[in-house]
Amino acid sequence: TPLSSSSSPRDTVAASRRLPVGVRKPPLRVVVTGGAGFVGSHLVDELLARGDSVIVVDNFFTGRKENVARHLADPRFELIRHDVVEPILLEVDQIYHLACPASPVHYKFNPIKTIKTNVMGTLNMLGLAKRVGARFLLTSTSEVYGDPLEHPQKESYWGHVNPIGVRSCYDEGKRTAETLTMDYHRGAGVEVRIARIFNTYGPRMCLDDGRVVSNFVAQTLRKQPMTVYGDGKQTRSFQYVSDLVDGLITLMESEHIGPFNLGNPGEFTMLELAQVVKETIDPSARVEFKPNTADDPHMRKPDISKAKSLLHWEPKISLKQGLPRMVSDFQKRIMDEKR
Ligand code: NAD
Ligand code: UDP
Ligand code: UDP
Repeated sequence: TPLSSSSSPRDTVAASRRLPVGVRKPPLRVVVTGGAGFVGSHLVDELLARGDSVIVVDNFFTGRKENVARHLADPRFELIRHDVVEPILLEVDQIYHLACPASPVHYKFNPIKTIKTNVMGTLNMLGLAKRVGARFLLTSTSEVYGDPLEHPQKESYWGHVNPIGVRSCYDEGKRTAETLTMDYHRGAGVEVRIARIFNTYGPRMCLDDGRVVSNFVAQTLRKQPMTVYGDGKQTRSFQYVSDLVDGLITLMESEHIGPFNLGNPGEFTMLELAQVVKETIDPSARVEFKPNTADDPHMRKPDISKAKSLLHWEPKISLKQGLPRMVSDFQKRIMDEKR
């Protein structure tokens, strides 16, 4: 097995547990911070299905118990209500660190809490990884590229980020989290992985979390107009959640540190997205224009050649295939709301 690029004494301890790529010794003890959230809960489903033991650490800021309720009776599953800004002692083999609000509406709600979560929360999880020799994976974001001057974005691009704007608690927070991750790797020999996630959608997103796909789908199902911010010509690339979960697990199990872009290169303007939602749900759906928010990136599209060549990973589900799977989940939850 090729070892990762660092070779500290700690690595040799970890190396004794390490198996050839693709071969693993289940069950692993895995922590998923933010595991009651949208992405985290899908990741938990997959890890439990593979035979791992999973501890979810979540403060339920944007996550919901219902997202993991089906596992509560499983002896391999544990749910801890805890805020990652505070230290925690656990004995585990792997840490998937997702805890952080991801929707702009949520992370701007309490920016100080957001940056504390990104900095102190990540520091605590890295401290934990160091103490127990666990492998640590950070879910960073395409927002580290800011309003990009390079298109599509490669991992080598350093970004174009406003350090004092209303989004900075999130994008600068994640940039600092990446820095901490690399410093714990270089300075303390922690085995780390960094994923830069691009816009992801799917079942279990909060109905009113303010992100564009969830907004458009919920609005159309409720017979309200889709709210297009600005002229609707800004672009995003939308990834279905199961592709992301595959990518996260593949990265964790690989011998590569990253960072890796994990996203679907299919690029859409917001007006094009509205058109796909209209075709999928309701041909009579309408759009309504609203003023855009500050510092909104004009375009975003991942270059995923690095993940393709080193992880042999690429997304499989197009927007047109993924959207209907999300719609049925939203339909059910919107019906439940009305009861
Ligand atoms: P989400 O809001 O659904 O999930 C985040 C989870 O973290 C929630 O369960 C929330 O309660 C929990 N959390 C927040 N602050 C916490 C704290 N201080 N202590 C403990 N738990 C806390 O968001 P998501 O879409 O599932 O995103 C998961 C991760 O992926 C985030 O780190 C996010 O930055 C990253 N990401 C997501 C996307 C996307 O499009 N979904 C894109 C880029 C990056
Ligand atoms: N930490 C934690 N759980 C652990 C080990 C550490 O929450 O099992 C926290 C610890 O409280 C500290 C942070 O992680 O706030 C960084 O730990 P580290 O040991 O790297 O730094 P130090 O404690 O020496 O400042
Ligand atoms: N957006 C929109 N209508 C909405 C919500 C968002 O037009 O109801 C736009 C927003 O201005 C941005 C894009 O959709 O250009 C993606 O926004 P989102 O909040 O989903 O994620 P971001 O990529 O900004 O983190």
